Amino acid sequence: MSQSPSIPASGKHLVAGDWLASGRTFPSVSPADTQEIVGVFPKGGKDEADRAVAAARAAYPAWRRTSRILRAELFDNLAQIVKRETDNLARLMARECGKVVTECRAEVVEGLHMIQYVFGTGRMPMGDVLASEIAEKDAFMRRKPWGVAAVITPWNFPFAVPLWMLGPSLLEGNAVVFKPSEDTPAIGQRLVELFVEAGFPPGTINLVHGDAEAGEALVRNPEVNVVLFTGSYDVGRRIQEISASIPDRIVACEMGSKSAVIVCEDAKLDLAATCALISAFKTSGQRCVSAGRILVHEKIFETFTQKLLALAKRLRIGNPLDAGNFTGPVINQAALDKITGYNALAKKEGAEVLLDGGRLSDSDHARGFFLAPFIYRQRHGSGVRSIREEVFGPHLALIPFTNNDEAVAIYNDTDYGLSLAVITESYRAMRFFREECEYGMGYVNLPCIGAEVHLPFGGVKKSGNGHPSAAGLIEAVTHKTAWTVNHAEEVKMAQGLTTTV
Ligand code: NAD
Repeated sequence: MSQSPSIPASGKHLVAGDWLASGRTFPSVSPADTQEIVGVFPKGGKDEADRAVAAARAAYPAWRRTSRILRAELFDNLAQIVKRETDNLARLMARECGKVVTECRAEVVEGLHMIQYVFGTGRMPMGDVLASEIAEKDAFMRRKPWGVAAVITPWNFPFAVPLWMLGPSLLEGNAVVFKPSEDTPAIGQRLVELFVEAGFPPGTINLVHGDAEAGEALVRNPEVNVVLFTGSYDVGRRIQEISASIPDRIVACEMGSKSAVIVCEDAKLDLAATCALISAFKTSGQRCVSAGRILVHEKIFETFTQKLLALAKRLRIGNPLDAGNFTGPVINQAALDKITGYNALAKKEGAEVLLDGGRLSDSDHARGFFLAPFIYRQRHGSGVRSIREEVFGPHLALIPFTNNDEAVAIYNDTDYGLSLAVITESYRAMRFFREECEYGMGYVNLPCIGAEVHLPFGGVKKSGNGHPSAAGLIEAVTHKTAWTVNHAEEVKMAQGLTTTV
């Protein structure tokens, strides 16, 4: 791996338009080469979080009163800047989070699509005209912002996921405090710099760097009206527990998964193997929607497995700045330990190991957290943890099934419900899985990964709490109000109520 191509960035918090340092710092280390320091960032805590929330609270009234169309037009400025910066952003992201640069570029484009969606939405309705029982009454539903939103995000989509939440929040007139992941502060910092360049007024977007301490300080601040969180279930659960004691707090959580591809008896097997490979191993299995399970009809199990193993064995894993690689490293030592721990657990639980991927330690990989795919055959059965829990790495169970009812039972037998792909030529089978499985995103003859910003992105069970992200989030960052106007000279009440005054 080559030396750092540029001087490390030095980050700051952004509070009320001022860039601030703080005493404690932490480095952002490239997962592909632990000797490369991408940047050094201030480590925020309660003090910085509270100051940022106060800045957002102070900026909120003027921002709320700004025309929604003018707020949206700032997103048009941002779109032009992101287009200019696309390649730089993609390279920075590849260095900082280890995703292959082509994938990083696609993520920047996804972020751009969200910005464009928000810009267009500025001129779309922000309410409805409704009928009234009384002819002389006009009735309206109008959406209003909540106030201050805290946006807390994961490392694996460090550009698009923050934009899924920052975009709707700011469009609708909320002021925000953004805390990027401690694994990707440089891309978080760069994103906020672009917002500033686009002309967002001081205090409307604030930035606090740091880890759980800074995130939890934001969540505990009662002046935060909405917490928009994407990350693991355990952290989402904690945020919901803390928020339960804060009156009027809204929490939108997008969390983990144990997504799956279901390969039916009639599947086209080359298509099925490609879909399985991408679902399980793109981004080294570190997408929320990554498949940890491929359910395969027993009649085609052997043929499908041979095709998948042939593809998996020749995957190119390496330097994320090399566009020819399929995937890069996992994010850090803790992730590597967790994934290899699950590989060991699968063996302990009696898995038949088909491809025993481990850490890659040759000279091209020795300085990074590179892991080869681990693939195993496992029967569905009670108490087998490795086929039910999120691993978030290149760890894949192939599970045989005998009929579609059994496939549904296996698919639903986890605590999660995020994404599902069905590989079939049968309309009836597709429809059956669509109706019977628990998921937020379903795909047919596709991998179970991939998003477009105008589609809802969210899940059920431990995967989400009912507020889909991206365009779907506009509902969570506003509340609906009724506004009723009487045009008569007398008072007429609904439900035929008569009142003698
Ligand atoms: P994580 O939960 O460890 O961290 C996410 C964010 O929460 C980080 O910014 C972190 O600093 C912050 N945080 C940690 N503890 C906190 C606390 N006590 N209070 C407040 N904030 C706290 O997740 P990660 O490792 O960055 O990302 C991986 C996880 O994210 C996986 O579980 C993945 O499935 C999930 N994810 C879900 C989606 C989705 O849309 N459903 C998308 C991407 C990632």
